[in-house]
Amino acid sequence: MEKKKILIVEDNPTNRKLFSTILQIEKYEVFEAEEAVRGLELAREERPDLILMDIQLPGMDGLTATRRLKEDDDLKEIPVLALTAFAMAGDAEKAVDAGCDGYISKPINVESFLEEIRPYLEGAAPKRSSGA
Ligand code: MN
Repeated sequence: MEKKKILIVEDNPTNRKLFSTILQIEKYEVFEAEEAVRGLELAREERPDLILMDIQLPGMDGLTATRRLKEDDDLKEIPVLALTAFAMAGDAEKAVDAGCDGYISKPINVESFLEEIRPYLEGAAPKRSSGA
């Protein structure tokens, strides 16, 4: 079976390493970008099965990057899970409004992280709506 590909766009090296390590142990093929422009390039080159998108990035933020992905006919079907800071009220709503398919709050729960992302890789996750 071919490995599922996951792209992580996250500027914090500690978080990036943590996500990457967990996902590689689970035998996913992982691609990493520390900023959004490189993330968009990798999305085009690698066509990942899932993108984990940090919201707060230097330069282009994760919301803008997600809008770009969702406006692109070649890339819009790739599920995007926002990585939102737990303390930042309203980030989750903004993420969904920008087109993210869901979100995970940081700091992540290592034990539930894989279960949270799995439905998005299997195309089984319910589409979230902002309710607006
Ligand atoms: Mn960040």
